[in-house]
Amino acid sequence: MIKKFLQKVFNKKTKAQIAINKADSSNTSAAKIISASKHNINKNLISQSALKTCDGLQKAGFEAFVVGGAVRDLLLNYKPKDFDIATNATPEEVYKVFRRSRIIGRRFRLVHVLWGNETIEVSTFRGHHDNEGDAAVNDSGRIIRDNIFGSLEEDAVRRDFTANALYYNATTEEVLDFHNGVADLKASLLRMIGDPTTRYQEDPVRMLRAVRLSAKLGLKIEKNTQAPIQKLADLLQDVPPSRLFDEMLKLFLSGHAVESISALRAQHLHHGLLPLLDVVLEQPLGEKFVMLALKNTDDRIVAGKSSNPSFLFATLLWHEVLKTWETYKAQGHNLIPALHMAMHEIIDAQAKKLAIHNRFTATMKEIWGMQPRFEQRAGKRPYALLTHPRYRAGYDFLLLRCESGEIDMELGEWWTEFADANTERRTAMLLPDTNPKKRRKRNHKKPATHSEPTTHVKEPS
Ligand code: ATP
Ligand code: MG
Repeated sequence: MIKKFLQKVFNKKTKAQIAINKADSSNTSAAKIISASKHNINKNLISQSALKTCDGLQKAGFEAFVVGGAVRDLLLNYKPKDFDIATNATPEEVYKVFRRSRIIGRRFRLVHVLWGNETIEVSTFRGHHDNEGDAAVNDSGRIIRDNIFGSLEEDAVRRDFTANALYYNATTEEVLDFHNGVADLKASLLRMIGDPTTRYQEDPVRMLRAVRLSAKLGLKIEKNTQAPIQKLADLLQDVPPSRLFDEMLKLFLSGHAVESISALRAQHLHHGLLPLLDVVLEQPLGEKFVMLALKNTDDRIVAGKSSNPSFLFATLLWHEVLKTWETYKAQGHNLIPALHMAMHEIIDAQAKKLAIHNRFTATMKEIWGMQPRFEQRAGKRPYALLTHPRYRAGYDFLLLRCESGEIDMELGEWWTEFADANTERRTAMLLPDTNPKKRRKRNHKKPATHSEPTTHVKEPS
């Protein structure tokens, strides 16, 4: 039944591509085994949760390896930020081994095993698409579902780069290397497994991963892995916006965002990802602003500080918001309603390409919405702004605008001083109120019996 369905979905071209990938795998079926004495992996850098997960699976009679980015990072002497486990247990079997676990994903089913507040991702070895199982590709060869399970060797073929197809057995402390990943790492090369064009067609996000991982790890993208990227850049248009968002978020928070964005531009991969990458980077002021924001984020991350994605996305889209805001103002809309119209329009347009999570867009709007309020430096308004729950983010955003040359430095300096000043100094700093809040007259409903209208004066707020 499933086979029939797959036959319908797979077109001729993708069958041919799969044949190529299969041929690749048969050449590399034997893994090199690198013993503990021949590699420099420090087991202490592996999280206890990952070790417990491997141990649990192995005790239940399954194979289990630390795999992917974690092994690569350990070999490069970086501390991995997350640990993935690969196993021959099916998701249901993994779920049965661990009390605190859940099966997630549809496109790619896997299990999250929870240990305290750490989550370990466990995936079942993936197999060839002509094995039994549930998988599908679309017309352009993109894999839209991949739930066909297979052997360890098959799993290695389906990973993206040779350096990401390394398997560490925590019990024997051996590394299994199916595609010469260790040699590539030693040569500082990021090399695609199999035919790069086919692999990008299966999943265009691999192009972004190539750029991101090479910037993050200081690896050079191998010649054949690099060659088709520019030509295939348009395939990214077909990737679901939520996946693009996840990948771009990783890129922005990698600590190497500036390099990654420059590389994306050089490879023509930026078109359509974010309006900023298309348009803003082409305007000198916009580019300066975005690059400053990315540089700040990189510095924070490299220094081990956290970085707020809402703030970053607010900066990335700001110049688009500014432009649209100007248009609405020119059409005669009032300042604040015009800003709100612009904010909504830009976020909606963005969502079609790269879906920024709602939890971030709410904060982005707050940061943007605060900006005109920084212009108001008279009366009670500056005091009210200081108590805004997002004041700090709004102020940092203001400073970036100043540094990029969009607005006068003096405004940022005024707020820096005002926030820290004592009451006396603050009073002295306030500008004359040229636009005092009007005392509004409020007409109360005329009581039917009264002939004279009563007016109340509203207390100034
Ligand atoms: P990072 O350090 O950013 O986490 P990573 O390589 O570990 O890098 P993950 O997204 O955590 O990236 O993926 C874990 C592993 O899953 C990868 O190392 C790779 O083996 C495999 N993988 C991830 N994405 C893909 C993909 N698009 N195609 C093939 N294999 C992939
Ligand atoms: Mg990872």
